[in-house]
Amino acid sequence: MISMRSVQKHFGDLHVLRDIDLEVPTGQVVIVLGPSGSGKSTLCRTINRLEPIDSGTIAIDGTELPAEGRALAALRADVGMVFQSFNLFAHKTILENVMLGPVKVRKKGKSEAKQRAMELLERVGIANQADKYPAQLSGGQQQRVAIARALAMNPKVMLFDEPTSALDPEMVSEVLEVMISLAKEGMTMLVVTHEMGFARRAGNRVLFMDDGLIVEDTDPDSFFTAPKTDRAKDFLGKIL
Ligand code: ADP
Ligand code: MG
Repeated sequence: MISMRSVQKHFGDLHVLRDIDLEVPTGQVVIVLGPSGSGKSTLCRTINRLEPIDSGTIAIDGTELPAEGRALAALRADVGMVFQSFNLFAHKTILENVMLGPVKVRKKGKSEAKQRAMELLERVGIANQADKYPAQLSGGQQQRVAIARALAMNPKVMLFDEPTSALDPEMVSEVLEVMISLAKEGMTMLVVTHEMGFARRAGNRVLFMDDGLIVEDTDPDSFFTAPKTDRAKDFLGKIL
């Protein structure tokens, strides 16, 4: 579902992704771990070309992403992304936030988009807040809306970049529960997170990044019980 081949990315002199090769099969839930600055966010952002790459190829469901243009917009819509900051449109209601992409990008009719948006808000447990504005919701609720908004595009892949890092502790689990249910339904997911309980429960695979490289690629149990590299041991020692 995601295929990256020999992907290179620099920011000026900084080599942020070093020859990344990654194949993610359909339905796999990949947890991305690594110290701050190791390239986790950049990896996510290149997958839907929020960041251009220097060289290499990235394909979603067998179709290579072009560098720009209309074809890119269409393919990018197949990749949902949820960030640490919820990035909802402040001047639009919750319902409008979820309807916007399907209407503008997928060219859906308003009544169809509304019906689907309400189903998704129901699913993330926010349907009763549909007419409120983002600022009237808690952080956990806003992040669940952000997930519903991404799902409204019927993405083939969902990318999560530290989706619970900005939340108060008591709101973390309500967001993780939504992600766990998505994972159970077979969504292909790449999740940057420091939530180790979630990683062990929902993840099928762990990538450990350091300095622009994927230095470990294994199953969660092996990673947490027997990390191979000193860098991963050091990292786990600091967070566990
Ligand atoms: P992580 O998400 O693992 O913390 P990032 O992918 O955000 O790491 O960043 C990797 C490296 O690239 C860091 O050194 C960061 O400072 C740098 N970086 C990220 N985005 C930019 C940018 N837009 N311009 C310049 N440097 C950047
Ligand atoms: Mg990051």
